[in-house]
Amino acid sequence: MTRKLKPGQYRPLVLVAFLLSLCQAGQAQEAPGARPSTSSGGAVTLFQNVRIFDGKSTTLSGPRNILVRGNKIERISTDPIPTDGSATTMLIDGGGRTLMPGLIDNHWHTMMVRPTPAALLMGDIGHLNLVAGAEATDTLMRGFTTVRDVGGPAFGLKRAIDEGTIAGPRIFPSGAIITITSGHGDFRQQFEVPRVLGSPQTRGELLGAAMIADSPDEVRVRVREQLMQGASQIKLTAGGGVASPHSPLDASTFTEAELRAAVEAAGNWGTYVTVHAYTPESIQRAIAAGVKCIEHGHLMDEATARLMAEKGIWLSMQAFPDELAHAFPPGSFEREKAMEVFAGTDATFRLAKKYKIKTAWGTDILFSPQLAPRHGELLTKLVQWYTPAETLAMATGTNAELLALSGKRNPYPGKLGVVEEGALADLLLVDGDPIANIKLIEDPAKNFVLIMKDGKIYKNTLGR
Ligand SMILES: [Zn+2]
Repeated sequence: MTRKLKPGQYRPLVLVAFLLSLCQAGQAQEAPGARPSTSSGGAVTLFQNVRIFDGKSTTLSGPRNILVRGNKIERISTDPIPTDGSATTMLIDGGGRTLMPGLIDNHWHTMMVRPTPAALLMGDIGHLNLVAGAEATDTLMRGFTTVRDVGGPAFGLKRAIDEGTIAGPRIFPSGAIITITSGHGDFRQQFEVPRVLGSPQTRGELLGAAMIADSPDEVRVRVREQLMQGASQIKLTAGGGVASPHSPLDASTFTEAELRAAVEAAGNWGTYVTVHAYTPESIQRAIAAGVKCIEHGHLMDEATARLMAEKGIWLSMQAFPDELAHAFPPGSFEREKAMEVFAGTDATFRLAKKYKIKTAWGTDILFSPQLAPRHGELLTKLVQWYTPAETLAMATGTNAELLALSGKRNPYPGKLGVVEEGALADLLLVDGDPIANIKLIEDPAKNFVLIMKDGKIYKNTLGR
């Protein structure tokens, strides 16, 4: 039954619509991607007698004093720094220990570290969020104060962390991984195809884990949806992947026009596209389309390495631990692909060094609660190719340079990954010298005696 409204009866409806629009405007200000509300206010911490690894240098500094006010490093000095002696100043006697920047993992999937693939795709979203929250707290307690999330529904978790509801690292979210039909990230079963345009979304899409896009127009929509939700960068899969059931490693997925559509949409928003790619063809096509960063790159060749160096393209790389290959049954398609990728690790790190490619580091720990506690160990594996100081610089100062590509979409304006005046106060106090003994990074529970993020102390076993 429909009821006709008389002219006067429209007025309340207009008012409701007006009020609703105001509410929506209010919500928009709090939208994900907004400035964090975590702040240490005017709190002051004074670190006395610490040696500094600044995120760039090859050696530690001599003894220094460092004053943190609010969420920034205000002063670094060889001389004593006077304080007003108020109860709000926290004095930390460093006892000659090392103060270094919080670690950064540039290839992380906040929502996918602990669950199994089945739990992610079929589980309850409330449960998944709580599990990811617990993992985020553990991630911070391992000394990782920032992660770049390269795919997954991390917006809600990021917001809860930034609001101070739960402890966790800063998150640079990509939102859903964008892939093609059968590409890396398309975890559908055979019975779910053919997809009819306009049909309901897959479970992975409903979760915001991976979106399937098969034309430049679809790519544009999916990219803009991630940006609307607060993505600081966009992630596409440009080639086949190990864990995906239908994507051969040699496959190049998106066409150049599709990649270009993503780059254009991200560029209009002031940020960049990074792609998952192993092979020379998929890497080169992505670079031709304007992509700024390559994730993995384990099967690249000499010509591709040269091109990356010439164009200043970032390589976000890792040495996968062998255990990851063992997660797949012997003789399986996935196991075979894992072995092929892992075999390329050494050559790719050598090429990256030879051509001086801008190289960032991230772990890509997926579906592995066993591996996550060994987070730091995946970093120290890099000493096969880099000195301990270079390795530590990669996971701090250099990784922060890659994060800065997000431009105005950077959710945490300020300098990360370094210990210098004016930088954001994400700091670890290490019991020992991690350049002389990088193994200290492998046991954060014991060796990171203080963990600070955004000027706030999350762990302190030294007391006042
Ligand atoms: Zn990944």
